[in-house]
Amino acid sequence: MKYESTRNKNTKVLSHQAVIRGLADDGGLFVPEKIDIHFDLEKLCSLSYQEAACEIIHAFLDDYSEEEIRKCVDNAYDDKFSSNEIVPLHLIENGAFMELWHGPTCAFKDVALTILPHLLTAAYKKENRDDTVAILTATSGDTGKAALSGFADVPHTNITVFYPEIGVSPIQKKQMNTSEGKNVEVIAVKGNFDDCQRLVKQAVHDPLVEKNLKGVTISSANSINIGRLVPQIVYYYTAYASLVRKGKIRCGEEINYTVPTGNFGDILAGWLAKETGLPVHKLICASNTNNVLTDFINTGIYDRRRTFHPTISPSMDILISSNLERLLYLLSARNDSLVAELMKELNEKGVYTVPAEIKEKIQKDFSAYWTDEDACRKTIKAAFEEDHALIDPHTAVALHAMRQYQKETGDTRMNVVLSTASPYKFAANVVQSLTGTKPEDDFDAMDQLYQLTGEPIPYSLSTLKDKPVRFTRVIEIKDGIQTIADKMKELGNDHD
Ligand SMILES: *Cc1c(COP(=O)(O)O)cnc(C)c1O
Repeated sequence: MKYESTRNKNTKVLSHQAVIRGLADDGGLFVPEKIDIHFDLEKLCSLSYQEAACEIIHAFLDDYSEEEIRKCVDNAYDDKFSSNEIVPLHLIENGAFMELWHGPTCAFKDVALTILPHLLTAAYKKENRDDTVAILTATSGDTGKAALSGFADVPHTNITVFYPEIGVSPIQKKQMNTSEGKNVEVIAVKGNFDDCQRLVKQAVHDPLVEKNLKGVTISSANSINIGRLVPQIVYYYTAYASLVRKGKIRCGEEINYTVPTGNFGDILAGWLAKETGLPVHKLICASNTNNVLTDFINTGIYDRRRTFHPTISPSMDILISSNLERLLYLLSARNDSLVAELMKELNEKGVYTVPAEIKEKIQKDFSAYWTDEDACRKTIKAAFEEDHALIDPHTAVALHAMRQYQKETGDTRMNVVLSTASPYKFAANVVQSLTGTKPEDDFDAMDQLYQLTGEPIPYSLSTLKDKPVRFTRVIEIKDGIQTIADKMKELGNDHD
């Protein structure tokens, strides 16, 4: 199966090449050139998470051998996850939470970022390249730690994470600055997230950096890489299988999934699961106050010209959802010139409107709701008191969307809510939602939350406070390129 660019379908590459390149040269995203995969549900119901992952990932990345995929899966989904089911289900009345936060950094990005480094190094091996792969990542908090953890001590890789000195939470900062691994570095930048992002993008084409790339290749752990998208398809299937095994649904019965959405990667993986045979009735797209996707799905108009609101579900504070481009391409019968035009309009005018038939197709598969900060807090409290479920703000946004959907449609199908972060990762806001008072210190908040609920604190978070800080470096934006150039030189020397 080849992958083609959403902005020019004549650009075709093998899946391992798409993993290496991340983004197509024309700025488009890679999508499978045809999706003629159909999984056998009955069979998937009898498989472990790892077995299902091998089957599903190999079907999409079929120029890797089965053996190569199995090694990647075994390296990723092991005792780094605190549940041996990897993604366990928590049943509630008429629904279930799919807990995606049992990985090393307690957020859903772990599921993809634990396997991406292995897919990437296997891809380089296939190309007979023994370069050191230098990963440069800009982060506003969550992705950085998940990437640091995923790449730590993976042979032939090195990772540097840049984060804004002011803007990440104390817990996120501590998580990153205490990272383990001989091949990792964390650098704070005197600037905001956009400055970090710009630095990393600029470095790839900077002559000073290029001069120093001997035996070293720069890559990114960016969320548009198909090596992150494909592993996310797996848990839609395993959650379904688990509901069948528990006798909650019949094999073949349609269910709904509700997904707290930012960059549209997670929910797009759900759509790909539906396309390959998973019985999904609706995918419910949940947004916070940054509700650009809610408006888009309901009207067909994507308009990012609005105020950006920092919220208590920060991983969804996004106004440009990159992965949506893939859906537009696939639902427009692969109309690459239309997609290129819409993306140009978004870039230049900040707004675009999709043709009516595409809007109808989107509305057939997706519903969309949004949740404000007050409703989010009330949902956390109600979930704990009524459903005995302790959830984080991102998950609460989704639960509230699911309730709105059920109320509006009367649809009583089983509904799986994707639970994307441990409540302890956002402990201060969760305590405030439960008690009305916000603890001053994030680490105290974890203890308070434990006192209040008795839910165990994930090990990696409970030990965080006393963990020694390894990284304290802060740089000016203007010194960023030189810093990266020096780093590449050092890696090149090590390589010899
Ligand atoms: C990244 C993230 C999301 C959003 O996922 P997308 O794939 O970007 O839509 C939701 N919740 C949490 C906790 C996240 O880290």
